[in-house]
Amino acid sequence: MNAIAVIARELAGRDAPDSPTACMELAETLAMASDRQESALAELIGRADASGEMRRWGLPSTQAWLRSRLGMRESRAKERIALARQRHRLPRVAELLATGELSYGYASTVADAVTRLDDEDCAAAEKVLLDMVDQGFSAGKVASFGRRIRDVIAERDGTESVDEDCQRGHERSWVTSTRSLDGGRYVKGWLNAEDAAVWDGTLGPLAKPAGTDDRRDLSERTAAALTGVLAGGHRATKVTVICDLDTLTGGTAPARLTDGTPISAEQARRIALNAGVSPLLLGRGHVPLYLGHRTRFATPGQRQVLETLYPTCAVRGCEVPGALCEVDHVDGWAIGGPTDIDQLALCCGWHNRFKHTNAEQVRIIRDATGRYVYRVLPPPDANAPPTELAQAA
Ligand SMILES: [Zn+2]
Repeated sequence: MNAIAVIARELAGRDAPDSPTACMELAETLAMASDRQESALAELIGRADASGEMRRWGLPSTQAWLRSRLGMRESRAKERIALARQRHRLPRVAELLATGELSYGYASTVADAVTRLDDEDCAAAEKVLLDMVDQGFSAGKVASFGRRIRDVIAERDGTESVDEDCQRGHERSWVTSTRSLDGGRYVKGWLNAEDAAVWDGTLGPLAKPAGTDDRRDLSERTAAALTGVLAGGHRATKVTVICDLDTLTGGTAPARLTDGTPISAEQARRIALNAGVSPLLLGRGHVPLYLGHRTRFATPGQRQVLETLYPTCAVRGCEVPGALCEVDHVDGWAIGGPTDIDQLALCCGWHNRFKHTNAEQVRIIRDATGRYVYRVLPPPDANAPPTELAQAA
């Protein structure tokens, strides 16, 4: 690695030769060498990706890692991740890329095309697409054919990989969406209990029949409700969480959703900020005495102000738009009187959770405009921190 870095620095300092022919030749040789480096890079990204190591560094995904630490654009990051994840299923592509017989452009095109294919279809697609390369089709042509392979197979099976939910476990929610041939979109996913409560609380009321002559079925009404929310026509999320007052004010007693699903005190407080909770007073022997009105600790007005202050998540380098962020209580939870907007920031769901579970890794500062900026420190056991791109930002 060090040798390559030295050579690259030396090359970058050189002037191009006068002869345009020589320039073309050198450019082609250099491009081929960079493609082999991409092969090595894919191996490294693949290992880091599989381990999830970036999460300990406060980066929600491999994509976020590539974007913020390596300064990659979104599309380039996606391309590299696709290759890193698919290369073990594309033995021929991996081999040709490593030996310089296939360009990175073609290799990443094939990797992208097989992403959602099962192993058998993947092997078939690798062969078909490499044949196209041999016949001299451009990377763009191979890509557009590749997209069709994927869509045709996805439509035939009515799904992408079946074992997706098993691989992820049931803690983290996920949603995938695939474009269909006619420009529409298939959506598939799984929500954990906490997110499901928000889903029900938001879409449930909106998906009710509009009247006696509303002939849409439930799934059609849900789709309309979801689209309405995405278009910004909501702000009436109703999630009821039942909990002790003590839980809201910093206690650790778990809370529960109205259907009985238990959720942690942390989750209850986060929902209280964003959607509202109904505190439940328990008497001796945990007999319910009083169910309070739904309380929301951040008002819609405060939320509006916060959205103007925070175009994106408060974590430096995170690009989740403020409108999609959760309200976060900057100093954790200390309640007494109404929530002071001075104590609130917007933070994406992932980082909000990260902040609660890895408080010692988050430094909070206020910038000149009074806005909170959260900086994520390296995990405590890390010896050599990767270059801090944040310093340049
Ligand atoms: Zn974030």
